[in-house]
Amino acid sequence: MCGIFGYTGKKEAQPLVIQGLKQLEYRGYDSSGIAMQNGSNAIRVVKTYGKIKNLEEILNKQPLKGTTAVGHTRWATHGTPSKENAHPHLDKENQIAVVHNGIIENYFDLKKTLQEEGVRFRSETDTEVIVHLVAKYYKGNLENAVRRALRDVHGTYAIAVITSAEPGKIVAAKLDSPLVIGKGENENYVASDVSAILEYTNQVIYLENGEVVTLMRDSCEITNLAGKPISRQPVKINWDVTQAKKGGFPHYMLKEIFEQPGILTAILKERVRGYEIHFDELKIPAAALKKVKRIVIIACGTAYHAGLVGKYIFEEFTDIPVWVDTSSEFRYRDPKVGPDTLVIAISQSGETADTLAGVREAKRKKALTLTICNVLGSSLSREAKGVIYTHAGPEIAVASTKAYTAQLAVLYLLGLYLSQNFKTMKESARRELLKEFLHVPQLMRSFLDEYKRDEKNWEKNAHDFNVRYHEQLDKYYSADPDKRKRAPNGFFLYLGRNINYPNAIEGALKLKEISYIPAEGYPSGEMKHGPIALIDENPWVICIAPESKTYDKMISNIQEIKARSGYIVPIVTEGNEDIQRLNPAYVIEIPRVSEIFSPLLTVLPLQLLAYCVANEFGEDIDQPRNLAKSVTVE
Ligand code: GLU
Repeated sequence: MCGIFGYTGKKEAQPLVIQGLKQLEYRGYDSSGIAMQNGSNAIRVVKTYGKIKNLEEILNKQPLKGTTAVGHTRWATHGTPSKENAHPHLDKENQIAVVHNGIIENYFDLKKTLQEEGVRFRSETDTEVIVHLVAKYYKGNLENAVRRALRDVHGTYAIAVITSAEPGKIVAAKLDSPLVIGKGENENYVASDVSAILEYTNQVIYLENGEVVTLMRDSCEITNLAGKPISRQPVKINWDVTQAKKGGFPHYMLKEIFEQPGILTAILKERVRGYEIHFDELKIPAAALKKVKRIVIIACGTAYHAGLVGKYIFEEFTDIPVWVDTSSEFRYRDPKVGPDTLVIAISQSGETADTLAGVREAKRKKALTLTICNVLGSSLSREAKGVIYTHAGPEIAVASTKAYTAQLAVLYLLGLYLSQNFKTMKESARRELLKEFLHVPQLMRSFLDEYKRDEKNWEKNAHDFNVRYHEQLDKYYSADPDKRKRAPNGFFLYLGRNINYPNAIEGALKLKEISYIPAEGYPSGEMKHGPIALIDENPWVICIAPESKTYDKMISNIQEIKARSGYIVPIVTEGNEDIQRLNPAYVIEIPRVSEIFSPLLTVLPLQLLAYCVANEFGEDIDQPRNLAKSVTVE
């Protein structure tokens, strides 16, 4: 959530900051702003509500000249999204500017004290207390004032601060919100994540909690909050910059959907040697894993759905019982985990606040912790004992696709790795599974090729839905406005069973996230316990029904929906002939694959269906309203 981008060097800072903020747009935001040093004159701030292009329009008319600046995209937590509340925030004399990501929990008390001392606040944010505290403690050295101010503050923060009194200097600090430094030639950067600075440098330092950095164009000094120097070498990031661009696709989401077979191929190539699976960075010795009596998976959103698939995988490949929990529920319970529990925390960004807190809770209870995440050096990768990176490259679209399948790939490999260590499966069976898994990326590719060939038909179906959707609205509207309000016009029900049940809720989530159409995912065995009441000619019912041990049960469910005039879209294995007898609206075929690996195939049409419907409705696919890419606050 929110983006911070700062630059100090020899170049004009404004275009770099704007470009940096655009790279961070995917994190979700409601307003943006920039503060520029202007010699020893007052700092100049331009900020506005809405998209970065609004900011650009103002800056085009009155550009800010200078070579040291900080910029921000805000995702409001305290105070409405507005120009006044947008960052940067200035002190009374307009000499100090602050941008902030996070929440200052004791801001109310701090604000009261500052007001009693005569400070007049210009915004409703929690952030503004920081700038006034820095001004209060400023005695000619910005990092000293920042360190002192942070001693008064409770909460989470990543901040970047500049002052007109010290040209060329940016001071930044962090506690539980991400911040990275990019080291360049005669220039330095600070940003919320690496995708914003990759274009300029791949030499990156991840700031740790409780650290303060002072950046000049030719120096970068890190200290702790007590002022003690810390020495840290930059790490080299190998992500390709072009991976972070759209590459000819109309949206990042579509590009990322199409990247999936390549990412899985790369993951398998890296991890599988002969018939052995290797996680070189794991840091948990096999002997420690052998003591594990149960696995608890914690995650949020799409990563939680990956965790649910993980349960089926681990219980199939090993003898270890598995629980899955959403991180926000796990962290406030008294979860019964201990030294014999492996807690696996899944998160694309590695910064998800609740998951991070869940790992801390697990560590307090002496559980073994492991994170599966995508971002190298992220907070979770440093907090958990062990780490497995998904290496999916930067995921820009807010709705997660490639990070999900990369998480699934790692979970399959981890399941096979555990079975290799625990010897819970016959070696020949394990090898057969691995052989089939190696072939899955090719099947995913052939499905996506087929989609490309059939794209017009997908678009037509999405269009038909749109027409139908609006016809229904009109019908209810004209007949009875009151009924219109209550009618479940055009919604989607997703049904799946067994290892494809998590994909039913993931498919529904994808649609909700980017098209705002109500959607519900259910295990189809639960149909008669409630959702069947929703069935008439209105909802689209997406039935995930590949060849599996529960296929016949799924067909019975489809019959029941059909008997109530339901509008069915089944996802079946290619060559299925009997589905046509049920007269579905249309049929989606996936390549033949064992049930255990089928989620990697069935998820593709679910992602594409959400994409096509949102596109037909003209929604902002890559940046859906109200959503943030990485949820770094509770
Ligand atoms: N809590 C701050 C605000 O509401 C910062 C929010 C953010 O991280 O963007 O302004």
